[in-house]
Amino acid sequence: MAQRTEALFRDDAYLSTAEAQVVAINDRGGILLDRTIFYATSGGQPGDTGMLERADGSRIAIAATMTGETKDEIIHVPAPEQALPAVGEKLKLDIDWRRRHLLMRMHSACHLLTVVCPFPITGAAVAEDDSRVDFDIPDAGFSKEDVTARLMELVRANHPVFTRLITDEELSANPGLVKSKNVPPVGTGRIRLVCIGENASIDSQPCGGTHVKSTGEIGEIHIGKIEKKGRENRRFRIRFGPMPTN
Ligand SMILES: [Zn+2]
Repeated sequence: MAQRTEALFRDDAYLSTAEAQVVAINDRGGILLDRTIFYATSGGQPGDTGMLERADGSRIAIAATMTGETKDEIIHVPAPEQALPAVGEKLKLDIDWRRRHLLMRMHSACHLLTVVCPFPITGAAVAEDDSRVDFDIPDAGFSKEDVTARLMELVRANHPVFTRLITDEELSANPGLVKSKNVPPVGTGRIRLVCIGENASIDSQPCGGTHVKSTGEIGEIHIGKIEKKGRENRRFRIRFGPMPTN
C-alpha cells in the first residue's frame, strides 16, 4: 500500500537536516519515512543524496531518492551494503546540501530561461554543472550571448521567488500558466505555482521542485550551447560561471 510521506522540502527548500521515523522498508530495501527533506526525482530535477543517522551514531548512505507507487510516496534508496533500519526507528536526516543547493540554483535558472524564451517546453533536465531545457521552436533566432545577457539581468535584479497554491479552476482559467507541452499538471485539486518577482510579475508556473528564494542567489550563469534537436526543437544548455571567452 502506498504511503504518504510529508514532503518538508515543499514548504522549506532550505532544510538540510531534520528528524523522522521509519514507517516501512519496501521489498527492494527502500526506506520510507513519515517525513523527509530528501527531494524525490521528478520534473527534471534529480533526487537528493545524503545520510540517515541512527541513534547509535552509525550512518546509512542514501544514493538516490525517488517516488514510489504514487508521487506522495518518497523512497530513500540506500547505497549498496548499508544496514537497514527497523520500522519505528527514529533517524536524523542529512542531505548533501552542497549538491542540493547547486540543483536549486540550476532549477531556478531554468525558470528564468523560460521567461527569456517564452515558448512551449518539451523537456528539461537539471544537473549540478549543466542543465538543459528543450523548446518547441522552429528557429531559435537567439544567440547565446543575448540570452545570457537577459538571464543575467534577471539574476542581478534579485527578484523574489516564492510559491503559492491555486485551485484546478484557477489554473484552467489561466491556461497561459502552463508552459510544458508534454506534462500538463494533473487535477489534484491544489496546484503549486512557483512565482518570480513582486506579485509574480516576472513569471509563475506550476512546479513541484526546489528553488532558491531570490534570483540573485543563482549567481553567474551563461548559455553554453543552443543545439538543434530536430526541425522544431532547440535545446538550450545552462552552465555556471561567466561565458568562456575564446
Ligand atoms: Zn521549478
